[in-house]
Amino acid sequence: MKIHEYQAKALLREFGVAVPRGDVADSPERAHEIARALGGRVVVKAQVHAGGRGKAGGIQLAESPAAAEAAAKQLLGMRLRTPQTPPEGIEVRRVLVEEASPVRAELYLAVTLDRARSTEVVMASQAGGMEIEEVAARSPEKILREWAHPALGLQPFQARRLAFGLGLAGEQQKAGGTLAQNLFACYRAKDCSLAELNPLVVTTDGRVLALDAKLTFDDNALFRHPDVTALRDVHEELPLDVEASRYGLNYIKLDGSVGCMVNGAGLAMATMDIVQLAGGEPANFLDVGGGASPEQIENAFRILSSDPSVKAVFINVFGGILRCDRLAAGVIAAVRKLGLKLPVVVRMEGTNVELGRKMLAESGLALTTATDMGDGAQKVVELARAAR
Ligand code: GDP
Ligand code: MN
Repeated sequence: MKIHEYQAKALLREFGVAVPRGDVADSPERAHEIARALGGRVVVKAQVHAGGRGKAGGIQLAESPAAAEAAAKQLLGMRLRTPQTPPEGIEVRRVLVEEASPVRAELYLAVTLDRARSTEVVMASQAGGMEIEEVAARSPEKILREWAHPALGLQPFQARRLAFGLGLAGEQQKAGGTLAQNLFACYRAKDCSLAELNPLVVTTDGRVLALDAKLTFDDNALFRHPDVTALRDVHEELPLDVEASRYGLNYIKLDGSVGCMVNGAGLAMATMDIVQLAGGEPANFLDVGGGASPEQIENAFRILSSDPSVKAVFINVFGGILRCDRLAAGVIAAVRKLGLKLPVVVRMEGTNVELGRKMLAESGLALTTATDMGDGAQKVVELARAAR
């Protein structure tokens, strides 16, 4: 789960990470008030779950409260398009109004999980403010890494080494080291999957500050963080993602035209591979899980069929816990109830498969059955192509 920059900064402040003073506004008037309270120059920042706002005009410097109000008026309600947003952009519903910081140096500092080493890696770079992927590709030597100890965490000597590597000296080195440890503490305490400050800045008056902040959380750990869960903003998520998560379906939108309904993540992977092998492209990854009920199947169908890029549906199920006759009953009910017009190819195998096939054949619905996965993939790809 992602959260907004203003929310991330509030959380980081609790962990002792220095951030600029500021507050969030959902109206130009409120932006005016905040700017007046801060006094002097402010930065008005569009709050959307995407980076690259600076280059897209989502970050504006304002010299006065009136200018902050004007900037907020322009940003609020607009659709901000950056390389990280969907092509149609994301509507700006809030802006963060912050005191402008006189920047001397833009640095990079982040914590994420290193799966290969089974622990967190803390990354730092003097090449902050730009896209870190590009720095990593072009000049990987500019990124320093320290791996946290699974039990001891990020140790003081490691934090000092990172601060030194960032070119900080004296008081700033101390501040930078402490900030790295505090960022790490937040990452661990809140079960983040990413905590990124890009840029972390040194100001002309010598402060070390998180100018931008991005926190992403591990969805599987949200159950133990009601405070974090409360920060969710469903306006930032695709409507179908929100609906799928409501029913506990694992749904991931992809670019192709074949909707895939499967049970189990391994089978989902195999299904995507075999659809591609047959020359098609999956439109999504939809896993109804092991014990899918008829309601789950109906919900899955509704989600699949409301995506206009889906031209044909491939149901690929192994009936273990989910028996094939129950699956067939669920599919028949869902297709009837939703009045589904899309071609559907069913491949199933496992418990009660004969009964399931018989039910599908006798349903009177135009369902295509497949003898095996390869056959199913071939058929659904042809149907999807014909429908376009
Ligand atoms: P992003 O483009 O979405 O990553 O948004 P950021 O918060 O990182 O802002 C982009 C850039 O705007 C930063 O790298 C800075 O160069 C600039 N910027 C943002 N806030 C300030 C500020 O208070 N003072 C100065 N001088 N520059 C700022
Ligand atoms: Mn940034």
